Amino acid sequence: MRVLIALGGNAMTSADGKARPEDQIAAVTLAMEPVADLAADGLDVVVTHGNGPQVGNLLVKNELAATVVPPVTLDWCGAQTQGTIGFIVVNALERALAVRGVRRRVAAVVTRTLVDAADPGFRRPTKPIGRYLPPLEAKVLIEHGQVWEDRGPRGWRRVVASPEPLEVLDAPAVAALLAAGFVVVANGGGGIPVVRQPDGSVAGVEAVVDKDLGAALLGHALGVDVLVIATDVDGAVLGYGTTDERPVGTVDAATLRGYAAEGHFAGGSMGPKVEAVCRFVEHGGRRAAITTLTGIADAVRGEPPSTATIVLPSDTREVTGHA
Ligand code: ADP
Ligand code: MG
Repeated sequence: MRVLIALGGNAMTSADGKARPEDQIAAVTLAMEPVADLAADGLDVVVTHGNGPQVGNLLVKNELAATVVPPVTLDWCGAQTQGTIGFIVVNALERALAVRGVRRRVAAVVTRTLVDAADPGFRRPTKPIGRYLPPLEAKVLIEHGQVWEDRGPRGWRRVVASPEPLEVLDAPAVAALLAAGFVVVANGGGGIPVVRQPDGSVAGVEAVVDKDLGAALLGHALGVDVLVIATDVDGAVLGYGTTDERPVGTVDAATLRGYAAEGHFAGGSMGPKVEAVCRFVEHGGRRAAITTLTGIADAVRGEPPSTATIVLPSDTREVTGHA
């Protein structure tokens, strides 16, 4: 059995949302416990992760240091966070495996995700990233070509394209490592966004890919059986934020899409997770889950608590199978 675990930002920062190095190491150490259990059971395990707080921190450094060292573009920020997060995940996972007496190797792969240069997101950026700034400071960055939006009382915030991920270009490297028995960390932050050039080569672009949609695509490319999206809530609920919240529980993709169409899942948070789990099972995945870190093992075993969201293929789905 092959599983893909997607860790949310909460798995990599402290509860206050800060991302000090020691917070990140502590959070990742905790997150690697269930991952190590799966690896100890002999499963093929792939880990992917978000990078929102980390990219936010890099952007602040860019802004503050712009007169001293050249600012770097968003694709570089993505690559840098894949490097540092991959590093601490590999360290923590190796340690958790050693404690269990399991001799499996771990590797992190710098992973690029192909997007379309004509994606509408590039003409009309919608994804807010980084910190809020007062209007005058935002104005300076707008003059440098960035798009910033007035987000109300907290100030202005940068918005960037979040294009549709089309292909995880480095999936074959991940597959080769899995075949060699490695536990693999890949496609962090949804993958480094790149576009195809006329000469066939690729180049990075100023964008961020949604981590959950990137996970669904990677899962499909690797023939993953079970995708688990681990986040800071037990699962998706209907009537979120009302006195009548009800867990979605175990549903098929068509039913879940129906709930999404009724507007139950907020854009930018639960919305993309729901879209990702639906896509995954619609393209041949056996099961997908949205749950907490502590729910991962049960979700993989198929015995999750009723608050976890479990998505199964719809009977009427078009069975496309794995690539
Ligand atoms: P992650 O960092 O794991 O990607 P997000 O903050 O992006 O986490 O998404 C999880 C959040 O989605 C929850 O903390 C919750 O506030 C929000 N959310 C929005 N709609 C729902 C819903 N219908 N059910 C559960 N959580 C929801
Ligand atoms: Mg998120």
